[in-house]
Amino acid sequence: MSQTKKVIIIGSGFAGQTAALYLGDALGKDHEVTVITRTTEFIFIPSLVWVGIDRMSLDKVQFPLAPVYEKFNVHNFHGQVTDIYPDDGYLTALDETTKAPKKFEYDYLLNATGPKLNFAGTPGLGPDAGLSQSICTPHHATRSRDTYLESVERMKKGEKQHFVIGTGHGTATCQGAAFEYITNIHKDLERRGIRDKASIKWLSNEPALGDFGIDGVSVAQGKNIRTSEEFITTVFEDYDIDWQVKTAVKALEGNSIYYETLEGNEGDESFDFSMLIPQFLANGMKYHDKNGEDITSKLANPGGFVLVDAVYGKPYDELKANPEYWPATYQSPAYPNIYAAGIAFAPPGPISRPQATPNGTPMAPAPPRTGMVSGVIGRLVAKNIIDNVKGHEASHSERMTEMYAACIASMGDSIWDGSAAVIIAHPIVPDWKKYPISGRDMFVSNMEMGLSGAWMKRMIHTTFSHKLRGRFGWSLIPE
Ligand SMILES: Cc1cc2nc3c(=O)[nH]c(=O)nc-3n(C[C@H](O)[C@H](O)[C@H](O)COP(=O)(O)OP(=O)(O)OC[C@H]3O[C@@H](n4cnc5c(N)ncnc54)[C@H](O)[C@@H]3O)c2cc1C
Repeated sequence: MSQTKKVIIIGSGFAGQTAALYLGDALGKDHEVTVITRTTEFIFIPSLVWVGIDRMSLDKVQFPLAPVYEKFNVHNFHGQVTDIYPDDGYLTALDETTKAPKKFEYDYLLNATGPKLNFAGTPGLGPDAGLSQSICTPHHATRSRDTYLESVERMKKGEKQHFVIGTGHGTATCQGAAFEYITNIHKDLERRGIRDKASIKWLSNEPALGDFGIDGVSVAQGKNIRTSEEFITTVFEDYDIDWQVKTAVKALEGNSIYYETLEGNEGDESFDFSMLIPQFLANGMKYHDKNGEDITSKLANPGGFVLVDAVYGKPYDELKANPEYWPATYQSPAYPNIYAAGIAFAPPGPISRPQATPNGTPMAPAPPRTGMVSGVIGRLVAKNIIDNVKGHEASHSERMTEMYAACIASMGDSIWDGSAAVIIAHPIVPDWKKYPISGRDMFVSNMEMGLSGAWMKRMIHTTFSHKLRGRFGWSLIPE
Protein backbone atom coordinates (compact mmCIF):
# COMPACT_ATOMS: atom_id res chain seq x y z
CA MET A 1 0.00 0.00 0.00
CA SER A 2 1.38 3.43 -0.94
CA GLN A 3 2.01 5.97 1.78
CA THR A 4 -0.41 8.91 1.94
CA LYS A 5 1.21 12.10 0.69
CA LYS A 6 0.24 15.64 1.62
CA VAL A 7 -0.02 18.20 -1.17
CA ILE A 8 -0.71 21.85 -0.38
CA ILE A 9 -1.71 24.49 -2.92
CA ILE A 10 -1.54 28.09 -1.78
CA GLY A 11 -4.01 30.28 -3.67
CA SER A 12 -7.19 29.66 -5.64
CA GLY A 13 -6.75 31.87 -8.70
CA PHE A 14 -6.34 30.57 -12.26
CA ALA A 15 -3.15 28.67 -11.39
CA GLY A 16 -4.17 27.30 -7.99
CA GLN A 17 -7.73 26.40 -8.95
CA THR A 18 -6.66 24.59 -12.12
CA ALA A 19 -4.05 22.65 -10.15
CA ALA A 20 -6.60 21.81 -7.42
CA LEU A 21 -8.94 20.20 -9.96
CA TYR A 22 -6.23 18.02 -11.53
CA LEU A 23 -4.67 17.09 -8.18
CA GLY A 24 -8.00 16.40 -6.51
CA ASP A 25 -9.15 14.33 -9.45
CA ALA A 26 -5.99 12.21 -9.52
CA LEU A 27 -5.01 12.05 -5.84
CA GLY A 28 -7.91 13.31 -3.74
CA LYS A 29 -9.21 9.89 -2.71
CA ASP A 30 -5.87 8.31 -1.75
CA HIS A 31 -3.81 11.28 -0.64
CA GLU A 32 -4.40 14.58 1.15
CA VAL A 33 -4.76 17.57 -1.18
CA THR A 34 -5.38 20.91 0.56
CA VAL A 35 -5.95 24.41 -0.80
CA ILE A 36 -5.12 27.25 1.56
CA THR A 37 -6.49 30.51 0.24
CA ARG A 38 -7.58 33.94 1.39
CA THR A 39 -10.88 33.88 -0.46
CA THR A 40 -13.96 31.68 -0.18
CA GLU A 41 -14.92 32.40 -3.82
CA PHE A 42 -13.22 31.86 -7.14
CA ILE A 43 -13.00 35.23 -8.86
CA PHE A 44 -13.03 35.37 -12.63
CA ILE A 45 -10.77 38.44 -12.74
CA PRO A 46 -10.93 39.15 -16.52
CA SER A 47 -14.66 39.91 -16.27
CA LEU A 48 -14.04 42.58 -13.61
CA VAL A 49 -13.55 44.87 -16.61
CA TRP A 50 -17.30 44.63 -17.23
CA VAL A 51 -18.09 45.13 -13.52
CA GLY A 52 -16.08 48.34 -13.71
CA ILE A 53 -18.47 49.87 -16.26
CA ASP A 54 -21.63 48.44 -14.66
CA ARG A 55 -22.25 45.93 -17.46
CA MET A 56 -21.94 42.85 -15.24
CA SER A 57 -22.86 42.23 -11.61
CA LEU A 58 -20.33 40.86 -9.17
CA ASP A 59 -22.24 37.61 -8.59
CA LYS A 60 -21.60 36.65 -12.23
CA VAL A 61 -17.83 36.81 -11.83
CA GLN A 62 -17.49 34.64 -8.74
CA PHE A 63 -18.59 31.31 -7.35
CA PRO A 64 -18.05 29.53 -4.01
CA LEU A 65 -15.03 27.25 -3.82
CA ALA A 66 -16.19 24.86 -1.07
CA PRO A 67 -18.65 22.77 -3.17
CA VAL A 68 -16.01 22.32 -5.89
CA TYR A 69 -13.42 21.14 -3.38
CA GLU A 70 -15.90 18.77 -1.77
CA LYS A 71 -16.61 17.17 -5.15
CA PHE A 72 -12.88 16.73 -5.84
CA ASN A 73 -11.94 15.47 -2.35
CA VAL A 74 -9.83 18.55 -1.73
CA HIS A 75 -9.47 19.97 1.79
CA ASN A 76 -9.77 23.70 2.14
CA PHE A 77 -8.51 26.21 4.70
CA HIS A 78 -9.59 29.82 4.51
CA GLY A 79 -6.46 31.62 5.57
CA GLN A 80 -3.26 33.40 4.69
CA VAL A 81 0.08 31.60 4.54
CA THR A 82 2.77 33.63 6.27
CA ASP A 83 5.79 31.37 6.81
CA ILE A 84 7.19 28.29 5.10
CA TYR A 85 9.74 25.88 6.59
CA PRO A 86 11.03 23.86 3.59
CA ASP A 87 13.65 21.88 5.58
CA ASP A 88 10.94 20.46 7.81
CA GLY A 89 8.11 20.42 5.27
CA TYR A 90 5.55 22.58 6.98
CA LEU A 91 4.02 26.05 6.81
CA THR A 92 1.93 28.30 8.97
CA ALA A 93 -1.23 30.12 7.95
CA LEU A 94 -3.42 32.62 9.77
CA ASP A 95 -7.09 31.72 9.91
CA GLU A 96 -8.81 34.49 7.91
CA THR A 97 -11.55 34.90 10.56
CA THR A 98 -9.87 34.32 13.93
CA LYS A 99 -6.33 35.27 12.82
CA ALA A 100 -5.08 32.28 14.82
CA PRO A 101 -2.00 30.60 13.31
CA LYS A 102 -2.27 27.00 12.18
CA LYS A 103 0.47 24.57 11.15
CA PHE A 104 0.18 22.41 8.01
CA GLU A 105 2.64 19.71 6.99
CA TYR A 106 3.30 18.99 3.33
CA ASP A 107 5.24 16.64 1.09
CA TYR A 108 4.65 18.81 -2.00
CA LEU A 109 3.86 22.50 -2.11
CA LEU A 110 2.54 24.68 -4.92
CA ASN A 111 2.79 28.43 -4.49
CA ALA A 112 0.09 30.01 -6.67
CA THR A 113 -0.39 33.24 -4.77
CA GLY A 114 -0.57 35.70 -7.67
CA PRO A 115 0.42 39.34 -7.30
CA LYS A 116 0.48 41.74 -4.40
CA LEU A 117 -0.85 44.99 -5.83
CA ASN A 118 1.87 47.44 -4.82
CA PHE A 119 -0.05 50.72 -4.82
CA ALA A 120 2.39 51.97 -2.19
CA GLY A 121 5.11 51.91 -4.87
CA THR A 122 3.55 55.05 -6.40
CA PRO A 123 2.49 57.75 -3.91
CA GLY A 124 -1.19 58.62 -4.29
CA LEU A 125 -2.00 55.58 -6.43
CA GLY A 126 -4.95 53.26 -5.81
CA PRO A 127 -8.51 53.31 -4.55
CA ASP A 128 -7.91 52.69 -0.85
CA ALA A 129 -5.21 55.14 0.20
CA GLY A 130 -4.90 56.98 -3.11
CA LEU A 131 -6.74 58.88 -5.80
CA SER A 132 -6.97 56.50 -8.76
CA GLN A 133 -9.15 53.49 -9.41
CA SER A 134 -8.28 49.83 -10.01
CA ILE A 135 -10.18 46.87 -11.48
CA CYS A 136 -7.87 44.18 -10.11
CA THR A 137 -10.13 42.89 -7.30
CA PRO A 138 -13.93 42.71 -6.86
CA HIS A 139 -13.82 45.43 -4.21
CA HIS A 140 -11.75 47.67 -6.50
CA ALA A 141 -13.92 47.00 -9.56
CA THR A 142 -17.14 47.96 -7.74
CA ARG A 143 -15.49 51.09 -6.41
CA SER A 144 -14.25 51.91 -9.91
CA ARG A 145 -17.77 51.33 -11.24
CA ASP A 146 -19.30 53.70 -8.65
CA THR A 147 -16.78 56.43 -9.42
CA TYR A 148 -17.28 55.86 -13.15
CA LEU A 149 -21.05 56.21 -12.72
CA GLU A 150 -20.53 59.52 -10.89
CA SER A 151 -18.62 60.75 -13.94
CA VAL A 152 -21.44 59.47 -16.16
CA GLU A 153 -23.97 61.49 -14.13
CA ARG A 154 -21.84 64.62 -14.47
CA MET A 155 -21.59 64.13 -18.23
CA LYS A 156 -25.33 63.65 -18.48
CA LYS A 157 -25.64 67.10 -16.91
CA GLY A 158 -23.37 68.48 -19.63
CA GLU A 159 -20.05 68.51 -17.76
CA LYS A 160 -16.86 67.36 -19.52
CA GLN A 161 -14.82 64.56 -17.95
CA HIS A 162 -11.23 63.52 -18.62
CA PHE A 163 -10.44 59.78 -18.32
CA VAL A 164 -6.88 58.53 -17.97
CA ILE A 165 -6.32 54.77 -18.13
CA GLY A 166 -3.09 52.78 -18.22
CA THR A 167 -0.21 51.87 -15.92
CA GLY A 168 0.74 53.53 -12.63
CA HIS A 169 4.40 52.50 -12.40
CA GLY A 170 7.41 52.18 -14.70
CA THR A 171 7.56 48.41 -14.18
CA ALA A 172 3.82 47.69 -14.19
CA THR A 173 2.45 44.80 -16.23
CA CYS A 174 -1.09 43.71 -17.26
CA GLN A 175 -1.45 46.45 -19.92
CA GLY A 176 -4.02 44.19 -21.63
CA ALA A 177 -6.47 44.62 -18.74
CA ALA A 178 -6.12 48.40 -18.84
CA PHE A 179 -6.51 48.38 -22.62
CA GLU A 180 -9.71 46.40 -22.31
CA TYR A 181 -11.03 48.83 -19.73
CA ILE A 182 -10.30 51.91 -21.87
CA THR A 183 -12.03 50.43 -24.93
CA ASN A 184 -15.00 49.34 -22.80
CA ILE A 185 -15.31 52.84 -21.37
CA HIS A 186 -15.29 54.27 -24.89
CA LYS A 187 -17.98 51.85 -26.02
CA ASP A 188 -20.10 52.31 -22.90
CA LEU A 189 -20.04 56.10 -23.18
CA GLU A 190 -21.08 55.77 -26.82
CA ARG A 191 -23.94 53.52 -25.82
CA ARG A 192 -25.05 56.04 -23.22
CA GLY A 193 -24.89 58.80 -25.84
CA ILE A 194 -22.37 60.91 -23.92
CA ARG A 195 -19.08 60.03 -25.62
CA ASP A 196 -18.77 63.64 -26.85
CA LYS A 197 -18.55 64.81 -23.23
CA ALA A 198 -15.44 62.70 -22.56
CA SER A 199 -11.80 62.97 -23.48
CA ILE A 200 -9.99 59.67 -23.02
CA LYS A 201 -6.24 59.11 -22.75
CA TRP A 202 -3.98 56.03 -22.61
CA LEU A 203 -0.92 56.56 -20.40
CA SER A 204 1.54 53.70 -20.21
CA ASN A 205 5.06 52.48 -19.58
CA GLU A 206 5.16 50.52 -22.85
CA PRO A 207 8.05 51.28 -25.25
CA ALA A 208 5.46 51.53 -28.05
CA LEU A 209 1.71 51.36 -28.42
CA GLY A 210 0.57 47.72 -28.69
CA ASP A 211 3.64 46.41 -26.87
CA PHE A 212 1.59 44.93 -23.97
CA GLY A 213 4.79 43.90 -22.18
CA ILE A 214 5.33 41.12 -24.73
CA ASP A 215 7.47 43.16 -27.14
CA GLY A 216 4.48 43.70 -29.44
CA VAL A 217 3.32 41.24 -32.07
CA SER A 218 3.88 41.05 -35.84
CA VAL A 219 1.58 39.02 -38.04
CA ALA A 220 1.47 38.12 -41.71
CA GLN A 221 -1.63 39.49 -43.44
CA GLY A 222 -1.50 38.50 -47.08
CA LYS A 223 1.85 39.70 -48.36
CA ASN A 224 2.14 42.34 -45.66
CA ILE A 225 3.44 42.26 -42.14
CA ARG A 226 1.28 44.12 -39.66
CA THR A 227 2.39 45.09 -36.18
CA SER A 228 0.35 45.41 -33.01
CA GLU A 229 1.56 49.02 -32.85
CA GLU A 230 -0.21 49.76 -36.15
CA PHE A 231 -3.25 47.80 -35.06
CA ILE A 232 -3.72 49.57 -31.72
CA THR A 233 -2.92 52.96 -33.28
CA THR A 234 -5.82 52.41 -35.69
CA VAL A 235 -8.11 51.40 -32.80
CA PHE A 236 -7.23 54.50 -30.79
CA GLU A 237 -7.56 56.79 -33.82
CA ASP A 238 -10.96 55.30 -34.68
CA TYR A 239 -12.14 55.72 -31.09
CA ASP A 240 -10.66 59.17 -30.61
CA ILE A 241 -8.49 57.97 -27.74
CA ASP A 242 -5.34 59.99 -27.15
CA TRP A 243 -2.17 58.15 -26.04
CA GLN A 244 1.18 58.61 -24.39
CA VAL A 245 3.61 55.73 -23.95
CA LYS A 246 7.20 55.55 -22.55
CA THR A 247 5.87 57.14 -19.38
CA ALA A 248 6.48 56.17 -15.75
CA VAL A 249 3.86 57.51 -13.36
CA LYS A 250 5.66 58.79 -10.27
CA ALA A 251 2.87 60.14 -8.05
CA LEU A 252 -0.74 61.35 -7.90
CA GLU A 253 -1.82 64.44 -6.04
CA GLY A 254 -5.20 66.14 -6.09
CA ASN A 255 -6.44 65.72 -9.65
CA SER A 256 -3.00 65.37 -11.21
CA ILE A 257 -0.86 62.45 -12.31
CA TYR A 258 2.86 63.30 -12.15
CA TYR A 259 5.11 61.36 -14.48
CA GLU A 260 8.55 61.10 -16.05
CA THR A 261 9.06 60.26 -19.71
CA LEU A 262 11.75 57.97 -21.09
CA GLU A 263 13.66 61.07 -22.21
CA GLY A 264 13.68 62.24 -18.60
CA ASN A 265 11.12 65.03 -18.93
CA GLU A 266 8.73 65.54 -16.05
CA GLY A 267 5.10 66.39 -16.65
CA ASP A 268 1.62 66.09 -15.29
CA GLU A 269 -1.79 65.13 -16.55
CA SER A 270 -4.99 66.19 -14.85
CA PHE A 271 -7.87 63.75 -14.60
CA ASP A 272 -11.46 63.42 -13.46
CA PHE A 273 -11.32 59.61 -13.52
CA SER A 274 -8.22 57.46 -13.66
CA MET A 275 -7.57 53.72 -13.56
CA LEU A 276 -3.89 52.86 -13.43
CA ILE A 277 -2.53 49.34 -12.91
CA PRO A 278 0.03 49.27 -10.05
CA GLN A 279 3.37 47.51 -9.90
CA PHE A 280 2.98 43.82 -9.04
CA LEU A 281 5.09 42.31 -6.28
CA ALA A 282 4.72 38.81 -4.91
CA ASN A 283 2.60 38.02 -1.87
CA GLY A 284 5.68 38.00 0.32
CA MET A 285 5.79 34.92 2.48
CA LYS A 286 8.89 34.23 4.52
CA TYR A 287 10.91 31.04 4.13
CA HIS A 288 12.95 29.72 7.10
CA ASP A 289 15.54 27.00 7.56
CA LYS A 290 15.39 24.43 10.37
CA ASN A 291 16.96 26.96 12.79
CA GLY A 292 14.32 29.54 11.96
CA GLU A 293 16.78 31.67 9.94
CA ASP A 294 15.27 33.63 7.05
CA ILE A 295 16.21 31.91 3.77
CA THR A 296 13.73 33.79 1.57
CA SER A 297 16.53 35.00 -0.74
CA LYS A 298 17.39 31.34 -1.47
CA LEU A 299 13.87 30.64 -2.74
CA ALA A 300 12.60 33.95 -4.10
CA ASN A 301 13.86 36.98 -6.00
CA PRO A 302 13.89 40.47 -4.39
CA GLY A 303 10.25 41.01 -5.47
CA GLY A 304 9.29 37.81 -3.62
CA PHE A 305 8.56 35.74 -6.77
CA VAL A 306 9.60 32.09 -6.46
CA LEU A 307 12.82 31.08 -8.22
CA VAL A 308 12.18 28.03 -10.39
CA ASP A 309 14.06 26.12 -13.09
CA ALA A 310 14.90 29.21 -15.17
CA VAL A 311 18.33 30.69 -15.94
CA TYR A 312 18.33 33.95 -14.00
CA GLY A 313 20.49 37.06 -14.05
CA LYS A 314 21.37 37.11 -17.76
CA PRO A 315 21.41 40.31 -19.86
CA TYR A 316 18.30 40.98 -21.96
CA ASP A 317 19.92 40.12 -25.31
CA GLU A 318 21.28 36.81 -24.03
CA LEU A 319 17.88 35.86 -22.61
CA LYS A 320 16.25 36.85 -25.89
CA ALA A 321 18.61 34.55 -27.79
CA ASN A 322 18.05 31.57 -25.49
CA PRO A 323 14.41 30.48 -25.14
CA GLU A 324 15.55 27.56 -22.99
CA TYR A 325 16.38 30.05 -20.21
CA TRP A 326 12.63 30.23 -19.52
CA PRO A 327 11.42 27.68 -16.95
CA ALA A 328 9.95 24.35 -18.02
CA THR A 329 8.81 22.44 -14.90
CA TYR A 330 8.37 25.37 -12.46
CA GLN A 331 10.21 23.48 -9.74
CA SER A 332 12.38 25.19 -7.13
CA PRO A 333 16.02 24.15 -7.61
CA ALA A 334 16.64 24.62 -3.88
CA TYR A 335 13.68 22.45 -2.81
CA PRO A 336 12.38 20.29 -5.69
CA ASN A 337 9.18 19.48 -3.76
CA ILE A 338 8.21 23.18 -4.05
CA TYR A 339 6.67 24.48 -7.27
CA ALA A 340 5.27 27.85 -8.32
CA ALA A 341 2.64 28.64 -10.96
CA GLY A 342 0.98 31.72 -12.44
CA ILE A 343 2.17 35.14 -11.39
CA ALA A 344 3.92 33.63 -8.33
CA PHE A 345 6.93 32.24 -10.26
CA ALA A 346 9.90 34.48 -11.05
CA PRO A 347 10.40 34.98 -14.80
CA PRO A 348 14.05 35.10 -15.89
CA GLY A 349 13.63 38.65 -17.19
CA PRO A 350 11.41 40.98 -19.19
CA ILE A 351 9.99 40.20 -22.64
CA SER A 352 10.02 43.82 -23.82
CA ARG A 353 13.44 45.48 -23.82
CA PRO A 354 13.92 47.16 -20.42
CA GLN A 355 14.87 50.81 -20.45
CA ALA A 356 15.43 53.60 -17.90
CA THR A 357 15.14 57.37 -17.92
CA PRO A 358 18.34 59.48 -17.66
CA ASN A 359 17.45 59.82 -13.95
CA GLY A 360 17.48 56.04 -13.56
CA THR A 361 13.70 55.54 -13.32
CA PRO A 362 13.02 52.07 -14.75
CA MET A 363 10.74 51.91 -17.80
CA ALA A 364 10.42 48.17 -18.03
CA PRO A 365 7.03 46.47 -18.32
CA ALA A 366 7.17 43.20 -16.39
CA PRO A 367 6.25 40.06 -18.36
CA PRO A 368 2.53 39.30 -18.13
CA ARG A 369 1.58 35.86 -16.81
CA THR A 370 -2.00 35.97 -18.01
CA GLY A 371 -4.92 33.86 -16.78
CA MET A 372 -4.44 31.52 -19.71
CA VAL A 373 -0.72 31.07 -19.01
CA SER A 374 -1.43 30.67 -15.28
CA GLY A 375 -3.97 27.93 -15.99
CA VAL A 376 -1.59 26.06 -18.33
CA ILE A 377 1.21 26.19 -15.76
CA GLY A 378 -1.21 25.20 -12.97
CA ARG A 379 -2.16 22.08 -14.94
CA LEU A 380 1.38 21.07 -15.79
CA VAL A 381 2.65 21.58 -12.24
CA ALA A 382 -0.27 19.47 -10.98
CA LYS A 383 0.77 16.72 -13.38
CA ASN A 384 4.38 16.99 -12.18
CA ILE A 385 3.28 16.69 -8.56
CA ILE A 386 1.19 13.65 -9.53
CA ASP A 387 4.38 12.19 -11.09
CA ASN A 388 6.29 12.87 -7.86
CA VAL A 389 3.60 11.39 -5.63
CA LYS A 390 3.72 8.25 -7.76
CA GLY A 391 7.48 8.06 -7.23
CA HIS A 392 8.60 9.51 -10.59
CA GLU A 393 10.54 12.58 -11.66
CA ALA A 394 8.54 15.55 -12.96
CA SER A 395 7.93 14.70 -16.63
CA HIS A 396 5.74 17.59 -17.82
CA SER A 397 7.22 20.77 -19.19
CA GLU A 398 6.14 23.78 -21.17
CA ARG A 399 8.01 27.05 -21.41
CA MET A 400 6.38 30.41 -22.06
CA THR A 401 8.42 30.31 -25.28
CA GLU A 402 6.08 27.49 -26.36
CA MET A 403 2.72 28.74 -25.09
CA TYR A 404 -0.02 30.66 -26.83
CA ALA A 405 -1.30 34.00 -25.60
CA ALA A 406 -4.67 35.39 -26.52
CA CYS A 407 -5.42 38.98 -25.64
CA ILE A 408 -9.09 39.58 -26.31
CA ALA A 409 -9.95 43.15 -25.45
CA SER A 410 -13.72 43.34 -25.59
CA MET A 411 -15.70 46.47 -26.18
CA GLY A 412 -18.88 45.73 -24.33
CA ASP A 413 -20.16 42.29 -23.38
CA SER A 414 -23.02 42.13 -25.88
CA ILE A 415 -23.05 39.28 -28.37
CA TRP A 416 -25.17 41.48 -30.69
CA ASP A 417 -23.35 44.77 -30.91
CA GLY A 418 -20.14 43.99 -29.02
CA SER A 419 -16.75 44.02 -30.64
CA ALA A 420 -13.27 42.99 -29.63
CA ALA A 421 -9.69 43.51 -30.58
CA VAL A 422 -8.16 40.03 -30.66
CA ILE A 423 -4.41 39.48 -30.60
CA ILE A 424 -3.14 35.90 -30.71
CA ALA A 425 0.58 35.50 -30.12
CA HIS A 426 2.44 32.25 -30.48
CA PRO A 427 4.60 31.86 -28.57
CA ILE A 428 3.91 34.46 -25.88
CA VAL A 429 7.67 34.86 -25.27
CA PRO A 430 9.35 35.17 -28.67
CA ASP A 431 11.58 32.28 -29.70
CA TRP A 432 14.10 33.91 -32.04
CA LYS A 433 15.88 30.62 -32.71
CA LYS A 434 12.75 28.99 -34.12
CA TYR A 435 11.19 32.11 -35.67
CA PRO A 436 14.11 34.36 -36.75
CA ILE A 437 11.97 37.01 -38.49
CA SER A 438 9.79 38.19 -35.62
CA GLY A 439 10.34 35.69 -32.80
CA ARG A 440 6.86 34.28 -33.37
CA ASP A 441 4.99 32.13 -35.80
CA MET A 442 3.58 34.89 -38.00
CA PHE A 443 1.01 32.63 -39.59
CA VAL A 444 -0.47 31.44 -36.30
CA SER A 445 -0.22 34.80 -34.58
CA ASN A 446 -3.09 37.03 -35.57
CA MET A 447 -4.83 40.34 -34.95
CA GLU A 448 -8.41 41.13 -35.75
CA MET A 449 -11.19 43.42 -34.76
CA GLY A 450 -14.83 42.39 -34.90
CA LEU A 451 -17.97 40.91 -33.41
CA SER A 452 -16.62 37.34 -33.36
CA GLY A 453 -14.01 38.47 -30.80
CA ALA A 454 -16.84 39.60 -28.52
CA TRP A 455 -18.41 36.15 -28.88
CA MET A 456 -15.07 34.55 -28.03
CA LYS A 457 -14.69 36.68 -24.92
CA ARG A 458 -18.20 35.84 -23.72
CA MET A 459 -17.57 32.17 -24.48
CA ILE A 460 -14.33 32.22 -22.49
CA HIS A 461 -16.20 33.68 -19.49
CA THR A 462 -18.78 30.88 -19.69
CA THR A 463 -16.57 27.90 -20.55
CA PHE A 464 -13.76 28.79 -18.13
CA SER A 465 -16.25 29.33 -15.31
CA HIS A 466 -17.70 25.91 -16.19
CA LYS A 467 -14.26 24.29 -16.17
CA LEU A 468 -13.06 25.92 -12.98
CA ARG A 469 -16.22 24.77 -11.20
CA GLY A 470 -15.17 21.24 -12.16
CA ARG A 471 -18.41 20.62 -13.99
CA PHE A 472 -19.12 17.89 -16.55
CA GLY A 473 -16.32 17.60 -19.12
CA TRP A 474 -14.12 20.14 -17.26
CA SER A 475 -10.85 18.44 -18.20
CA LEU A 476 -11.72 18.57 -21.92
CA ILE A 477 -11.84 22.38 -21.89
CA PRO A 478 -8.34 23.75 -22.52
CA GLU A 479 -6.92 26.36 -20.16
C1 LIG B 1 -8.90 43.46 -14.83
C2 LIG B 1 -8.09 42.30 -15.32
C3 LIG B 1 -8.42 41.71 -16.53
C4 LIG B 1 -7.70 40.61 -16.99
N1 LIG B 1 -8.05 40.04 -18.17
C5 LIG B 1 -7.41 38.93 -18.58
C6 LIG B 1 -7.82 38.26 -19.78
O1 LIG B 1 -8.73 38.69 -20.47
N2 LIG B 1 -7.17 37.11 -20.13
C7 LIG B 1 -6.16 36.60 -19.37
O2 LIG B 1 -5.62 35.54 -19.74
N3 LIG B 1 -5.73 37.23 -18.24
C8 LIG B 1 -6.33 38.37 -17.83
N4 LIG B 1 -5.93 39.00 -16.69
C9 LIG B 1 -4.80 38.44 -15.94
C10 LIG B 1 -5.25 37.32 -15.00
O3 LIG B 1 -6.32 37.73 -14.21
C11 LIG B 1 -4.07 36.92 -14.13
O4 LIG B 1 -3.01 36.60 -14.98
C12 LIG B 1 -4.41 35.71 -13.27
O5 LIG B 1 -5.43 36.04 -12.37
C13 LIG B 1 -3.20 35.21 -12.53
O6 LIG B 1 -3.55 34.02 -11.90
P1 LIG B 1 -2.82 33.52 -10.58
O7 LIG B 1 -3.48 32.24 -10.20
O8 LIG B 1 -1.36 33.54 -10.77
O9 LIG B 1 -3.12 34.66 -9.48
P2 LIG B 1 -4.49 35.16 -8.88
O10 LIG B 1 -5.61 34.96 -9.81
O11 LIG B 1 -4.23 36.55 -8.39
O12 LIG B 1 -4.73 34.21 -7.62
C14 LIG B 1 -3.92 34.28 -6.48
C15 LIG B 1 -4.60 33.54 -5.35
O13 LIG B 1 -3.72 33.43 -4.23
C16 LIG B 1 -4.40 33.82 -3.02
N5 LIG B 1 -3.36 34.27 -2.10
C17 LIG B 1 -2.47 35.27 -2.26
N6 LIG B 1 -1.62 35.32 -1.21
C18 LIG B 1 -1.98 34.33 -0.37
C19 LIG B 1 -1.47 33.86 0.89
N7 LIG B 1 -0.41 34.42 1.48
N8 LIG B 1 -2.10 32.81 1.48
C20 LIG B 1 -3.18 32.21 0.90
N9 LIG B 1 -3.69 32.61 -0.30
C21 LIG B 1 -3.09 33.65 -0.91
C22 LIG B 1 -5.37 34.88 -3.51
O14 LIG B 1 -6.40 35.06 -2.58
C23 LIG B 1 -5.85 34.23 -4.83
O15 LIG B 1 -6.81 33.24 -4.56
C24 LIG B 1 -6.60 40.13 -16.23
C25 LIG B 1 -6.25 40.75 -15.03
C26 LIG B 1 -6.97 41.84 -14.59
C27 LIG B 1 -6.57 42.51 -13.30
